[in-house]
Amino acid sequence: MNIILHWFTTDLRLHDMPSLRSAKDANALLPVYVIDPQSEGDTMHGFQRIGPIRKTFTLQTVYALKEHLQARGSDLLIIEGPSEIVIPELVDIYGVDSIHVELPFASEEVKRISKVKSNIAIPIHHFESRTLFREHELPFTLDQLPDMFTEFRKLIEKSCGYAIQSCDDSPLPPLPIALKKHSLQNKMQEIENSWITDPRAAFKAIGGELEGLKRLQYYLADTHAISTYKETRNGLIGDRYSSKFSPWLALGALSAKRIIESVNTYEQLFTANESTYWMKFELLWREFFQWTLKKHGDAFFRAEGIRGKKQLVNHDSQKIENWRLGNTPDRFVNANMKELLHTGFMSNRGRQNVASYFVHNLQQDWRIGAAWFESQLIDYDVASNWGNWMYVAGVGNDPRQDRVFNTKKQAEMYDPDGAFQDLWLYDHMAKNER
Ligand SMILES: Cc1cc2nc3c(=O)[nH]c(=O)nc-3n(C[C@H](O)[C@H](O)[C@H](O)COP(=O)(O)OP(=O)(O)OC[C@H]3O[C@@H](n4cnc5c(N)ncnc54)[C@H](O)[C@@H]3O)c2cc1C
Repeated sequence: MNIILHWFTTDLRLHDMPSLRSAKDANALLPVYVIDPQSEGDTMHGFQRIGPIRKTFTLQTVYALKEHLQARGSDLLIIEGPSEIVIPELVDIYGVDSIHVELPFASEEVKRISKVKSNIAIPIHHFESRTLFREHELPFTLDQLPDMFTEFRKLIEKSCGYAIQSCDDSPLPPLPIALKKHSLQNKMQEIENSWITDPRAAFKAIGGELEGLKRLQYYLADTHAISTYKETRNGLIGDRYSSKFSPWLALGALSAKRIIESVNTYEQLFTANESTYWMKFELLWREFFQWTLKKHGDAFFRAEGIRGKKQLVNHDSQKIENWRLGNTPDRFVNANMKELLHTGFMSNRGRQNVASYFVHNLQQDWRIGAAWFESQLIDYDVASNWGNWMYVAGVGNDPRQDRVFNTKKQAEMYDPDGAFQDLWLYDHMAKNER
């Protein structure tokens, strides 16, 4: 018997999954998802590490995967407990021979997996399912990864370009294992149904692979919104100004490779223009931050970032709370922060402005801002979030050290009639904010 335990982490899908396909010779495959209390709880800043909206979106995604696997005659064990305890227990109960898991990029995940490793005697195989390229496909070694995005992009475009190796979507191996009764309960959590999408939300975010694939279809062939993306991408209202792929990408419910493949097909069938190129360009930003995190590790979470540059901070709990809740003296910042609070999403333009305001106007520690985003964003991605925050704080990959957003000017430029600010600030709850 060859039994493989597939430990799902941020690869919550069945398409483009080399780890599942490489298990095709196994006699049995045991799919597992662990809700690890160590990655939840409160931050040292007095708010939850995973807020309710992000939690709901994650659970929707996990349960959608369970249903998808059940439809293929398999199942997903959803277990709550410290990974280093529950995974070894499952290995014993099922007589597992090896474990397949996504290659982790952040140190916390690396440490979690090594703790599991030290409690078992079977091999763990890692799979690179998060990025467009595997490490050996990059045109440089990781220690030579450029610290500037433009240099990275040029090297990638010159060598591999966007004609990436296509996703392997050959049929899945049978998933025949019968789940045994055991003390680790198959966690059935009530998904918070009371959370109803705010009617002002830019788009309806429902977790799960099929919803992610639907969104891809919607943005490309259904609406052709992609063909004007370069002109609309700085928008603030509505579901078409940008792709909104990020929530599904973050949990791996949609693969980055699948998006590039679909954009390439769209270009062949319909049109190839600056906008279709720009979507691939933006996905390269995502790729850049993933590899930058892998290269720099813990420096991503230090005040001085990867530049080793000290930041001036002036800790003020009241200012931090006002920013978090959208009660600062700046209407544009407030509107964006309320959007985040009520929906778990914010546009890229909004993120740049509120982060710059937090760091440069309020002079607070950028890591607290990043932690708040981590708590709230349904598209929270460790590399993209901490990498972008470092960038804005001037301790990351920005070649310019003096970039500060003038939020008043930005509001005039991107919200000239104030429609976005009115949407989030002028409601029955908050008339007095006008
Ligand atoms: C302070 C700050 C924090 C951020 N935190 C996150 C985060 O936790 N998770 C996250 O996915 N993105 C993050 N971003 C990047 C960006 O804002 C979002 O990816 C984007 O707004 C998501 O919306 P979209 O899918 O409609 O993007 P689109 O404009 O349609 O772009 C398509 C895809 O390209 C990628 N992308 C675009 N811009 C960036 C960027 N600057 N950095 C990395 N990838 C990018 C994303 O995967 C995105 O889904 C952050 C940006 C800032 C300034």
